Amino acid sequence: MTKISKVLVIAGSDPSGGAGMQADLRVIALHDVYGAGVITCLTAQNTQKVYEIFDIPIEFLRKQIVVVLDDINFDVIKIGMLANLEVIECIANELDKRNCQIPIILDPVMVATSGDILLKENAIYSLKNRLASKAFLITPNINEAEILSEIKITDLFSMQESARKIKALGAKAVLIKGGHLNFEDHKIHNILLDENDKIHIISNPRIEVENIHGTGCSLASAISANLAKKYDLLSACQSANNFIFYGAKNFQKIGKGSCVLGLSSK
Ligand code: PLP
Repeated sequence: MTKISKVLVIAGSDPSGGAGMQADLRVIALHDVYGAGVITCLTAQNTQKVYEIFDIPIEFLRKQIVVVLDDINFDVIKIGMLANLEVIECIANELDKRNCQIPIILDPVMVATSGDILLKENAIYSLKNRLASKAFLITPNINEAEILSEIKITDLFSMQESARKIKALGAKAVLIKGGHLNFEDHKIHNILLDENDKIHIISNPRIEVENIHGTGCSLASAISANLAKKYDLLSACQSANNFIFYGAKNFQKIGKGSCVLGLSSK
């Protein structure tokens, strides 16, 4: 029997399935990797809007983390929507208690594509000081990178500057997603600052689609699955970028709002 690689996702629920835990587990399964899921919060959302966020009791979040980590040896932990300060502190405390050495991919989710706030402002300090330092890789988009680094990003140069400042928070590597920047060549450029301080630019053509959501969650999950399968970091990011690019090319209008990725394992 071949041994399956295993990723633990710690993230919020999106009942419409385009983002959050539902998207994460779908992406991980499409990579032939086993995905487990600890829910940080429930959202009432569809492809148009996040209507409400329901915080689950912190003691119950702690219980989920403890029982799965006591039981299963994961290859990678992927962290997505955290919602508030208490959730961040709970996760950081549990990781500290067990001196967790599992590589962590941290997607520092702050605002949804719809514009709805997914992380309370008073949680940003904790995200920077308690969780970023534990991450093997942190994957901000442009807005999140600006907040984490306190640098205004306008081009590839300021993206690199921002990545270096975020790395100084303690993460081993940083991937800044450039989808929210307009580059002269009309492409999307992402910057990877790797474990050895080397910069790589990972690019792809821009897909003309009005709005697509779930790309950030899905990219971080694809990278997590690739790392669980022991890809090196650059290959994990390049392969995940291609996976999302083809998903975006095959976008699906499933509801009345944003499109979602049309993902396939092929
Ligand atoms: N909802 C949940 C539960 C999420 O985890 C995320 C992103 O991580 C989003 C919504 C936002 O996704 P998007 O910005 O792609 O709409």
